Amino acid sequence: MINLQGKCGVILGIANDRSIAWGIAEAAHAAGARLALNYQNERLEKNVTELASRLPGTLAAPCDLTREDEVRDFFAKASSAFDGKLDFLVHAVAFAKKEELAGRFLDTTHEGFNLAMQVSVYTLLTATRHAEPLLNAAGGGSVVTLSYYGAQKVVKNYNIMGVAKAALEASVRYLAADLGPTGVRVNAISAGPIKTLAARGISGFSEILGTVAEKAPLRRNVELADVAGTAVWLASDAGRGVTGEVIYVDCGFNIMGV
Ligand code: NAD
Repeated sequence: MINLQGKCGVILGIANDRSIAWGIAEAAHAAGARLALNYQNERLEKNVTELASRLPGTLAAPCDLTREDEVRDFFAKASSAFDGKLDFLVHAVAFAKKEELAGRFLDTTHEGFNLAMQVSVYTLLTATRHAEPLLNAAGGGSVVTLSYYGAQKVVKNYNIMGVAKAALEASVRYLAADLGPTGVRVNAISAGPIKTLAARGISGFSEILGTVAEKAPLRRNVELADVAGTAVWLASDAGRGVTGEVIYVDCGFNIMGV
C-alpha cells in the first residue's frame, strides 16, 4: 500500500459521500495523510464537517473558489494547521448550468460559457497559486485535478464542460512547466463516469454508464476507489517522475475504436 505518512494535503470539491474528492480523502487518510477539506457554501457545511469528522485530525473550512478572500482565508487555515507546508493539492471542482448540458454546443450562452470556464478551469489556477508557497516550503509536491474523456472526444450533451475540460488539460501542462523547476508536479486524472451530484446534471448520463460497462476492456464502470488509488499514487513519492500528464482511470474505455 502507498504511504502518505507525514504528508499534508488539501482536497477541494467534496459535496457528499459520492463525491470523487471524498473517495480521494478517504484513501489519502487511510494512507496516513493529514487533510484539509473545503465546503463551497453553508448548504454543504453540514455534509462536509460530518464527513471530515470520520477522518480524525481533518480540518474542514469554507471556501468558494471563485472568491479570492475565501481562498486566501482557507489556505491561511491550512497553512497554520500544517506548519506552513503542503505536500499535495487535489482539485475536484467543476460546474456548468444544467441547461448547458443538453442540446447543441452551438447554443451555449455567453454567460454559461464563462461560468463553466471560471469554475471548472480558472479555480485550478487560483487554488494552485495559493498553494504554491506551501508546496515550495515542503520542497515540492503534487497537484491533481479531475478531467473527463469529453475533453478529447465529442460526448453527447457534455458540451461546454468538454471544452472546459480541454482547457483544464492544457492548463495542467502549462502549470506543470511553470512549477516543475521547484519540484511541484501537476497532473490530471481523466476519470470514467461515476454517478455523483455533478454528473446528475448531464442529460443522458445513465446511457454513458451503460455504454462504458458494455464496451470498456474491463467491462465495468470505475468506482471512487479506482480514481482515489491513482490520486494517492500521484500524491506519493512513487509518482515523483510524473508531471503534465492526463492519466486515464476509465477501465480502458478511451482506447477503444470501432
Ligand atoms: P461533485 O458534485 O461531488 O463535486 C463537484 C464539487 O465542485 C462539489 O463539491 C462542489 O461544491 C464543487 N464546486 C463547484 N463550484 C465550486 C466553487 N465555486 N467553489 C468551490 N467548490 C465548488 O461531483 P464529482 O463528479 O465528484 O466532481 C469532481 C470532479 O470530477 C469535477 O471536476 C468533475 O468534472 C470531475 N469528473 C467527474 C466525473 C463523473 O463522472 N462524476 C468523471 C470525470 C471527471
